[in-house]
Amino acid sequence: MALKSFIGQKKITDKLRRALSLGTLSHSYLFSGPEGIGKKTLARAFASELVCTSPDTNGPCGNCNACKMFRAGIPTDYFWLQPEGDHVSVDDIRNIQSDIVIRPMYSERKIYVITGGDTMTVQAQNCLLKTLEEPPGYAVIILLAEKSESLLPTVMSRVIHYELEKYTKEDLSAILAQNDIRISPEFLNAVYGYSEGVPGKAMDLIRSEDFVQMREDMIRLILELIGDKLNIIDWANYFENYKEKFAILLNILQLFYRDALMIINSNKNSIINADKEDIAEKIAKSLDGREIIRNIQHISETQVNIKRNANYRLALENMLLNLTEE
Ligand SMILES: [Zn+2]
Repeated sequence: MALKSFIGQKKITDKLRRALSLGTLSHSYLFSGPEGIGKKTLARAFASELVCTSPDTNGPCGNCNACKMFRAGIPTDYFWLQPEGDHVSVDDIRNIQSDIVIRPMYSERKIYVITGGDTMTVQAQNCLLKTLEEPPGYAVIILLAEKSESLLPTVMSRVIHYELEKYTKEDLSAILAQNDIRISPEFLNAVYGYSEGVPGKAMDLIRSEDFVQMREDMIRLILELIGDKLNIIDWANYFENYKEKFAILLNILQLFYRDALMIINSNKNSIINADKEDIAEKIAKSLDGREIIRNIQHISETQVNIKRNANYRLALENMLLNLTEE
């Protein structure tokens, strides 16, 4: 994919394209942002342009030897470092350093993408620093990191840092279409809300049967709460079984209350669970604005408490008890 057809991140792709056409490229870049935001896709798009020997205004030519190698995934001038363990080690960086001194084969550049850049040990970062300080003229290093804070200030001072932004709903929709994922506009609304504009997260949600089921479960919980039929022990057991997913579950629950608040405030366009609007309507009929806000706070507090290692079951029992109070 050329940078031109990359969806979203316009500010970044415009700057990269300008640097490519003006020949004002840096030797090192850092793309940062949460998991699933598109760092790898962006790095690959950028690399496809860097590697080409006869690009035109649309991007890489696709016909030169460098383009052919890139497409075939043969690492002649383009290298993708995926750490084997949970971090980038000093050996990984040394491997790059012993390769980077060899001139490019087909391209005019040699491109190194280092994924998990924020997992580099301090030793690895200091080692990389030597290359960042005096890279060969043909080298371009692209670091990918979820959090730039994990990188040493000395490394940060050597890279051009671009932080990827969360996507708009329209862009997310276009990305899903590009990946042959088709969902209803109402479900898109919900997925956008839950994924917070992170495409990878949205795709995971759509592909996970769990998500659909968990949403149905939380609807059942809400209906039981409204109907005064809640069995706290049963639901505490339920949450016990979903211990790893409690954050998503509570998020789903909270967003239904949020939607109900939107209905009360005559702000129906902002409803996230648009495909389940009737549920939010039911909440809005049974509780007033103050009660809904109080419930949202109870759920938030529970999330915080569990993250702070409060007793899981007790925290949830408390939450359920608080939600049943009028
Ligand atoms: Zn080419």
